[in-house]
Order: sequence, then structure tokens, then C-alpha cells
Amino acid sequence: MDCPACGARDVIEIKHRLPDGTQLDFFSCHMCDERWWDRQGDNVTLKEVLDLARRLRR
Ligand SMILES: [Zn+2]
Repeated sequence: MDCPACGARDVIEIKHRLPDGTQLDFFSCHMCDERWWDRQGDNVTLKEVLDLARRLRR
């Protein structure tokens, strides 16, 4: 995975698995500090991640 903002390689990747089995990975670029999320191959915004977390808490 390359950084979409600056193209740096070897970005930081933290894998999460939600209680419902959804794979949700967090990426962070150590070069430009860009952060983004990926849900099973789809790019998701922070707002969508928060909505997802809120739905799962119910
Ligand atoms: Zn970057």
C-alpha cells in the first residue's frame, strides 16, 4: 500500500476486525501524516468509520 497523498511506500498499517467480522484496516503515512481507513478493500472516511462503530455498539 502506497500513500495516496505523497506516494510514500511502507506506510503504517494496523489491522482491525470488527465484532461482526468486517475487516477494517487503519493506515498512517510517516512521511506526510496522512491517515485513512480501508474496509475490505474500500476506502472509507473517518465519518463512515464512526458511523460503523456506532451501529455496532447498539
Ligand atoms: Zn504520505
